[in-house]
Amino acid sequence: MNKEINYNNRCPECGAPEANGLDCRGQLEQILAWEQSDPDLLGRHFWTVACFNIQHPSSFTEEAWTGLCTVFCEAYDHQLSVFDIRRKVSTWSDGPVRIRREVPADPIVRDWAMAISEVYLAGEPKGAADRVLAWSKVIRKQLVEFL
Ligand SMILES: [Zn+2]
Repeated sequence: MNKEINYNNRCPECGAPEANGLDCRGQLEQILAWEQSDPDLLGRHFWTVACFNIQHPSSFTEEAWTGLCTVFCEAYDHQLSVFDIRRKVSTWSDGPVRIRREVPADPIVRDWAMAISEVYLAGEPKGAADRVLAWSKVIRKQLVEFL
């Protein structure tokens, strides 16, 4: 596969450049597809999706975004198991709280130090689970100033 990164075409929110013609969401879909043949990556599914969502706040209501960040930080700081995370996430996402905005807001630009493109690496599945871990670490650190 031709590995091509287009730095002129970046996501306005997470800052990820287009890679192999895929925008950041397309890159996320590829990474989720890799989970089928990578148990370590599958084990970090929560982190992959949470990192991506945290870097796209305009898709969510402010309350939902803050709620997600809180669960994320708690899970990270206390190294919660997938089971505990699920329990917290369902508490957070059940009920009448609206999560997604009906009409996306304008992009909320933050200067993220790492984006999904650095996990996707223009289509390199090897080591992706470790890169997700690195990504969650960067986001946890930056959330201190963004929350
Ligand atoms: Zn993006």
